[in-house]
Amino acid sequence: MQKRKNVVVLGSINADIILKLARLPKPGETMKLQGFETAGGGKGANQAIAAARSSSEVHFVGRVGADAYGKMMCELLQKDGINIEHIKTDANNPTGQAYILLQDSGENSILVNSGANVFIQEEDVKDARYLIEKADVIVAQFEVPINRIIEAFKMARAAGVSTILNPAPATKVPDKLLELTDLITPNEVEAEMLTDIHVDNPISQRNAARMLQAKGVKNVILTLGSEGAYYLTENNQEQAVPAFKVKAIDTTGAGDTFIGCLAAKLNPNFDNISQAVHYANKASSLTVQKIGAIPSIPTEKEVTRR
Ligand code: ATP
Repeated sequence: MQKRKNVVVLGSINADIILKLARLPKPGETMKLQGFETAGGGKGANQAIAAARSSSEVHFVGRVGADAYGKMMCELLQKDGINIEHIKTDANNPTGQAYILLQDSGENSILVNSGANVFIQEEDVKDARYLIEKADVIVAQFEVPINRIIEAFKMARAAGVSTILNPAPATKVPDKLLELTDLITPNEVEAEMLTDIHVDNPISQRNAARMLQAKGVKNVILTLGSEGAYYLTENNQEQAVPAFKVKAIDTTGAGDTFIGCLAAKLNPNFDNISQAVHYANKASSLTVQKIGAIPSIPTEKEVTRR
């Protein structure tokens, strides 16, 4: 049996506020909502839950506000067994919120108030040093300040802990962060943002991955939606791993499930990358068959069920 991974997630925590409406209001128009729901979200929270449901010991480093959403999110993470000791309560900023305007047509428009997520302080990362140093892997995404990720990855690198960077939402990345990254996991849009290569076929996938390696990243996994994933390792192993053929109902959380499961299953020396990508593909193919993010993230038992 595989050793239970110790995963640190440095990431975002949001309350997703889903506003159901017939259509977007025009400027100056007042419209009634057709429905209102609140759900847990934030890339960090989703990825932490995916890793925890795939049998990892997960420690979260982040911030929420001193409000009801912060309390809701901490309870939600704890329900999945995630250690929340290093989620600080920010007295001056609210818990991150994403307002999802869901129209009858199925189209989504999203407004984000980053709130406490972007006020994670250098002290918060320093306080978590002992956790980072004893982890197998640290995972981070871009809904928290890039400087905090650099500080945390420096600690991890010095202690021989693997670093996984999910470069989402798409943004330019400083080379000094790429040099501290053992594994980067962009989707096609993020890969293009990082490399200026439009990724739409095997040659462009390889070229984009090589360019990321030239910038200092050791290993690259491109997630390719319904096409699955492609990886290129430090020692030049590469493979396109097809997705599972399923009927996708809602792809929200697919990428986060993939990253969290990968963190849970990948060995620190990446010698089982093919199996880990296969597992992450399987897990995210289950996520896309259900509505919502956190409720649809599968457990290890569900992923491995035949
Ligand atoms: P999202 O932002 O929707 O959460 P993403 O853009 O970060 O996702 P994708 O590359 O779209 O990431 O998807 C991640 C993984 O989810 C894919 O590598 C694949 O394994 C799985 N996946 C996504 N869409 C489908 C689909 N339609 N059918 C099967 N698997 C899918």
